[in-house]
Amino acid sequence: MVLGTYKDAISAKATDKSIQEVSQDGGIVTALLSYALDEKIIEGAVVAGPTEEMFKPEPVVALTSDEIISAAGTKYTFSPNVWALKVAVRQYGLEKVGTVAIPCQLMGIRKMQSYPFSTRFLADKIKFVVGIFCMENFPYASLETFVNEKLHSSMDVTLKMDIGKGKFWAYTDEGNLSIPLKETHGYEQAGCNICKDYTAELADVSTGSVGSPDGWSTVLKRTDNGSSIFDKAVEAGVIETKPIDSVKPGLGLLEKLSDGKKSKAADEIKKRVEMGLPVPF
Ligand SMILES: Cc1cc2nc3c(=O)[nH]c(=O)nc-3n(C[C@H](O)[C@H](O)[C@H](O)COP(=O)(O)OP(=O)(O)OC[C@H]3O[C@@H](n4cnc5c(N)ncnc54)[C@H](O)[C@@H]3O)c2cc1C
Ligand code: SF4
Repeated sequence: MVLGTYKDAISAKATDKSIQEVSQDGGIVTALLSYALDEKIIEGAVVAGPTEEMFKPEPVVALTSDEIISAAGTKYTFSPNVWALKVAVRQYGLEKVGTVAIPCQLMGIRKMQSYPFSTRFLADKIKFVVGIFCMENFPYASLETFVNEKLHSSMDVTLKMDIGKGKFWAYTDEGNLSIPLKETHGYEQAGCNICKDYTAELADVSTGSVGSPDGWSTVLKRTDNGSSIFDKAVEAGVIETKPIDSVKPGLGLLEKLSDGKKSKAADEIKKRVEMGLPVPF
């Protein structure tokens, strides 16, 4: 299946206004991790927390909903959340940990759980992983290039970054600025060109903006555990939902983009193999 294995696809958004104000899309990551914390399904969550430079994240072990909320929003650069899982268990002593992860990080987490040779102390303590869709990721310096040189603005006045409708966007104090994605190609991390997973296929629950209207998120319920936490959050009124086939552009666009990413990566892998370059597949 082009979207991986899932039980159900839904369009959804957090009902809490304080989450809606700061979240990237429908606030599903923040709402689910906060709900899991409040219900003691997890004791803490590793999230991509803010630093003095707003779009240069560092992983944080959040122990309260407020800390989870303050990490909301997408930073289009690497946040080594997997590394901080060890911190959550070893330094914070957590027995039940949640986290948010992009697809490549999920591959690391699931591999570590399948072969926990030196990570037995950690593998079975990861109780809930929310995956986010990911087409590509950039070095922080590239984000600075987009904002400073291509958009002639500054990180200091940038409030939010987004990728959508074929463009890279910076929402700033001076207005909403954008460049076509063809101008950002070439800046992405080299590994992204051979990455076949768009929709975080190994997550408990995956979510992203593609497929749903602005302010809403597309959600794929994957594991029994993830489905159960999501359903309970809906029952508790933390999340509201709409059938995915009642919204535009719908699941078809997500399938198309996921399929495109897999074929493009397969072509690049073939090319690299032919050149004698190593590929991790
Ligand atoms: C590099 C990247 C590329 C993406 N590309 C796409 C795409 O092509 N299509 C699409 O539909 N969605 C994409 N997304 C996901 C999208 O931008 C939102 O993160 C997702 O829809 C969740 O929104 P939300 O409102 O539920 O999350 P929020 O409630 O706003 O929470 C976002 C959560 O993500 C965490 N986070 C932020 N940045 C990172 C990071 N770099 N690494 C790990 N965790 C992070 C935050 O700590 C927070 O917990 C991408 C995300 C990233 C990080
Ligand atoms: S495209 Fe793949 S390799 Fe690149 S950051 Fe996203 S998940 Fe990781």
